[in-house]
Amino acid sequence: MPVRNSLRIGDVKLTLVEELVMPTSARWLFPDHEAPFDVLEGARAWLEPHMLNERGHVLQSIHSWVIEADGMRIVVDTGIGNDKDREGGGFEGWHMRQGPYLEELAEAGAPAESVDVVLNTHLHGDHAGWNTKWVDGGWVPTFENARYQLVDIEWEYWSGLEEPPDIIGDSVRPVVEAGSVDLVSADHRVSDSVWLEPSHGHTPGHVCVRIGSAGQEAVIIGDVMHSPIQCAAPEQRPPLDSFVEEARAARLQLLERYADTDVVVLGTHFHTPASGYFRRDGSAYRYDVFEGDPPRA
Ligand SMILES: [Zn+2]
Repeated sequence: MPVRNSLRIGDVKLTLVEELVMPTSARWLFPDHEAPFDVLEGARAWLEPHMLNERGHVLQSIHSWVIEADGMRIVVDTGIGNDKDREGGGFEGWHMRQGPYLEELAEAGAPAESVDVVLNTHLHGDHAGWNTKWVDGGWVPTFENARYQLVDIEWEYWSGLEEPPDIIGDSVRPVVEAGSVDLVSADHRVSDSVWLEPSHGHTPGHVCVRIGSAGQEAVIIGDVMHSPIQCAAPEQRPPLDSFVEEARAARLQLLERYADTDVVVLGTHFHTPASGYFRRDGSAYRYDVFEGDPPRA
């Protein structure tokens, strides 16, 4: 049974809807580190119990954040999707997936047809998959009444490649062709309480999603950071970034900007509850998790 987390930031409601959990070894997360398990041991106290399983694997999650703000329903990142041919790429559980994501979304109070806006922090296969679904032999927009607000430079980069990745062909181009896309800038304001924040590096047009309402703030970090364990060794990374140096700079900037502030950090691949604070910890950082509404100061 997939788990959910729900919290309020001012007048904004956020709900995590999980699609898949992938236990990941410290060695895979930190391929360039000579002692990845030492980092894991050092971080164990705050990784447990939510983000570490009994085998010592860090739990990676693929999920959407549903935002209810200013009379709108917004879905941030749309996971892997069903029926996608991922034979040549992706991970276990991705290829021709048959998961209950749409039912989970509806149970969380956000049936696909009720969604007003879809945002993708970037156009990778685990963030844009449910942009489309397979109906009668073709890909159609899953969120039939939504505007898909795609960052212009992100779309232009991937669609301009000679051989774009499968996700572009089966999950992004069909929504463009259906007329459901508005290309927006990387600092676009979606509504009074929700806006995009440029964080290029992992991909050329990667964005974070910022939320601010009634004196409270949050940031959905996308893949600027893949695992909370990176707080303990911010120079380290799993082998997933398109532009390694830019991604590293974006990650350090994110930590620098939000550590020891009241801005709630919502992870995109952090295991549920995936809500917490960045805190300075010696020469690095840690991630202090909380469940439910943020503890008020
Ligand atoms: Zn990702």
